[in-house]
Amino acid sequence: PYAMDHDLAEAWLRAAAAAVEQREEELTALDGAIGDGDHGSNLRRGFTAVTELLDGLEPGLPPGTLLTRAGSTLISKVGGAAGPLYGSALRAAGSALPEPTADLTDLAAGLRAGLSQVCKLGGAQVGDKTMVDAFEPAVAALERAAFDGFTLREASALAAEAAEAGARSTVPLVARKGRASYLGPRSAGHQDPGATSTALLFAALARVAG
Ligand code: ADP
Ligand code: MG
Ligand code: MG
Repeated sequence: PYAMDHDLAEAWLRAAAAAVEQREEELTALDGAIGDGDHGSNLRRGFTAVTELLDGLEPGLPPGTLLTRAGSTLISKVGGAAGPLYGSALRAAGSALPEPTADLTDLAAGLRAGLSQVCKLGGAQVGDKTMVDAFEPAVAALERAAFDGFTLREASALAAEAAEAGARSTVPLVARKGRASYLGPRSAGHQDPGATSTALLFAALARVAG
């Protein structure tokens, strides 16, 4: 059964942009504790540009193309670590999706490709206190749900829960990648901002798929 078409991809990106804007201050505060305090503003700048991109696109493009172009926009508009990592993930996911629509198995495989790109570029694994700690369980939940024959709606709710739990799991961890790793043991006791924004992106997918 169908999972993602043009309209759902567009709705996801717009919902992600709205969520980033709504939670910019919270993301920035988290980054202020263990980084340089710009995660919220970095992502808002990037997703504002994604919204402008969507406003100007010709209608009816396949979902993979929307994700790929949004990814390129994030890479070109956002400095710092997370923007280019998210951008590369969206580009990899977008190019993995079939046209004109993707089913749940395709979507899980596309996001797995996106996550692999993040791990390859950033060198992080689960447990390093990064976005990977939310991204990996979310993709695994999608894969399980696809295997079990769940709908996109059910699958994306499970993925959002898994991402949220993954983000919370970063609190006690000591960061081994990114700026937070400069703090060493003092990075423990704070939730990772990138894992938090990943949870927000999967929550946005669950909302539009629901
Ligand atoms: P910067 O750290 O350059 O200011 P941001 O504040 O926008 O960039 O993003 C910080 C987030 O990026 C971190 O909370 C972490 O989740 C993620 N991140 C940083 N480095 C890596 C990496 N090497 N691999 C995966 N994620 C990373
Ligand atoms: Mg930062
Ligand atoms: Mg920065």
